[in-house]
Amino acid sequence: MRILIVEDEQPLRSGLEDLLAAAGHEVATAADGRAALDLGLAEPFDLVVLDLMLPGVDGIEVCRRLRQARPEIAILMLTARGSEDDKVAGFGAGADDYLAKPFGVRELLARVEAFARRAGRRPQPPEVLEAAGCRIDLGRHEAQRGSEAVALTPREVGILRWLHRHRGRAVSRAELLENVWGASADLKTRTVDMTIAKLRQKIEPDPASPRIVVTVLGAGYAWGADDES
Ligand code: CA
Repeated sequence: MRILIVEDEQPLRSGLEDLLAAAGHEVATAADGRAALDLGLAEPFDLVVLDLMLPGVDGIEVCRRLRQARPEIAILMLTARGSEDDKVAGFGAGADDYLAKPFGVRELLARVEAFARRAGRRPQPPEVLEAAGCRIDLGRHEAQRGSEAVALTPREVGILRWLHRHRGRAVSRAELLENVWGASADLKTRTVDMTIAKLRQKIEPDPASPRIVVTVLGAGYAWGADDES
């Protein structure tokens, strides 16, 4: 599985990274909530091992935003606090499982393996989309039209994932900011428009009259193409 470890205590973060990599998983790490959202919203992880007490954006908020943006992702919360209130708050924010520190290595591995079994049974959203003559590979961050392939940025991939998942309705700029950027207060909706303008240059047959990422007047953007795959 692709696993994101979010833990601000460096020794524990390294320990978890070594442990899960040794168990055969592809592991990335983040040391605070902001980095966790940046990575978690941009990359297709199967599981997030998420510490509750984090500097900046806390674990509950990271969990809530990741869950909203990526319903298919599994979230295992870790915390030093094992109180019933904390557990209920964690589950309320969308956590799938909970482990109180200090925990045994074997129990952690057993829980991770349980997620791996479930992930293997769950239908995964498509990683390759065919739209208006463009082949968009979300996993490899690449778009191909004819023989020409261009790289997509993590934000561009995030926008495409979100619009495709919610195809059939308009998506507001605020919704994209919250679910693709992780809603930093300093970001303006203009950021979305500029990113989409660049994205259209890469994927649209004619960026001046878009067919894949279409504008919905007064509402935002929508997935405009029929699935060809
Ligand atoms: Ca912590």
